[in-house]
Amino acid sequence: MANRFRGGVHPDDSKHTSKQAISGLQPAERLILSLSQHIGAPSRPEVSVGDRVLKYQPIASPGGFVSMALHAPTSGTVKAIEPAPHPSGRLVTAIIIEPDGLDEALDRTDKADPGLARSPENWKETIRDSGIVGMGGAAFPTHVKLSPPEDKPIDMIVANGVECEPYLTADHRLMLESPDEILGGLFLAMKIVGAKKAVVAIEANKPDAAEVMRKADLPEGVTVEVLPVMYPQGAEKQLIQALTGREVPTGGLPMDVGVVVQNVGTLATMNQAIKEGRPMVERVMTLGGPLPNGPGNYMVSIGTSLSHVVEQTGGLKGPAARLINGGPMMGQALAGLESPVTKGTSGLLAFGPGELRTLRQRACIRCGSCISVCPASLLPHTLGSMVEFRLFNQLREFNITDCIECGSCAFVCPADRNMVQFIRQGKAELLALAGK
Ligand code: SF4
Ligand code: SF4
Repeated sequence: MANRFRGGVHPDDSKHTSKQAISGLQPAERLILSLSQHIGAPSRPEVSVGDRVLKYQPIASPGGFVSMALHAPTSGTVKAIEPAPHPSGRLVTAIIIEPDGLDEALDRTDKADPGLARSPENWKETIRDSGIVGMGGAAFPTHVKLSPPEDKPIDMIVANGVECEPYLTADHRLMLESPDEILGGLFLAMKIVGAKKAVVAIEANKPDAAEVMRKADLPEGVTVEVLPVMYPQGAEKQLIQALTGREVPTGGLPMDVGVVVQNVGTLATMNQAIKEGRPMVERVMTLGGPLPNGPGNYMVSIGTSLSHVVEQTGGLKGPAARLINGGPMMGQALAGLESPVTKGTSGLLAFGPGELRTLRQRACIRCGSCISVCPASLLPHTLGSMVEFRLFNQLREFNITDCIECGSCAFVCPADRNMVQFIRQGKAELLALAGK
């Protein structure tokens, strides 16, 4: 085992909510079920305005192979299907449900396989029909990841419990509180892709989680690996390199080196879907940062507005200067709290004006720090300059699409250059040049 990936940085981990057990919230009076809450084509609505829906009822179907089903998180009435706030800042079509407070559920016993008597192919269909996506933030449809082509055999599944982003502790708590759910999902993933080995990967700042996982009933072939604390170790390619020494090639995927990585939350959700027939209608998220009155880890229905999460937990100590969907390194800045929790919402962070450093972007001094920390072996300062001087045609030669937008380069830059912003702009310009 290599135990190290190239580059990376050491931000203060600020895991202040790691002792906060996962708790529930009062249900919201309105749920906003966005049709775009995964990578891929938007889902297609299967209900109409005025319909009464039951908890777990499918309300939207996949809009393509890389797309997902959507289910009602509780019983209620469809009030609208209309553009609604989305964490991306855009308005995106959503199914708006007004809950009736009865939480009446659809009988899905026919979907459950508690004795695991069905085939791995049937389990994969259940994962697809249950609307499960990667819960570490990327929101990639899980059944697609578990469908590698025959010429790419998988020998290892990695259960990703690294949670390397500062402030986020949802996966940490899940490992402490639901190790058997995670290991149940890991066993199923191994069977689906035919992998004989699996690793539960955890960073060294969660020794209690590593201990709980080690003491749990580990399926045959499963080990627990504790990795040194280093950001962005939770990124798939970096995690695989740290665990196995295998390098995913430029433009390639983990399956090219025989590995499938699944977030621990995704594995627990898979386990519930297959054994109990419960589709993905909720997730654990961290409410963190210095500003919330009730920081912690919460089980939240998909579609709950972020403002409801904040209000239900005691509000904020003052006006927010920065709101972030996800972690501070790779998360998205939010314009407000109107958007809903989606399947990929790992956290909401709120900072006041006193907690932010003012960045004054200056000319690059060619110090090379960004090159030494880039985990994707890129030349961040060159990419940034190319975008600044609009030399878009050369970006591909410098492998801009390999950038995982981890922000390590910007983190160390003494000239406060926002390379991630430049690189995102460069990627968008390349897509535009390609006519996509
Ligand atoms: S160039 Fe991309 S991958 Fe490299 S450090 Fe910067 S954000 Fe991360
Ligand atoms: S870290 Fe900043 S100043 Fe140094 S080479 Fe990179 S972009 Fe230039």
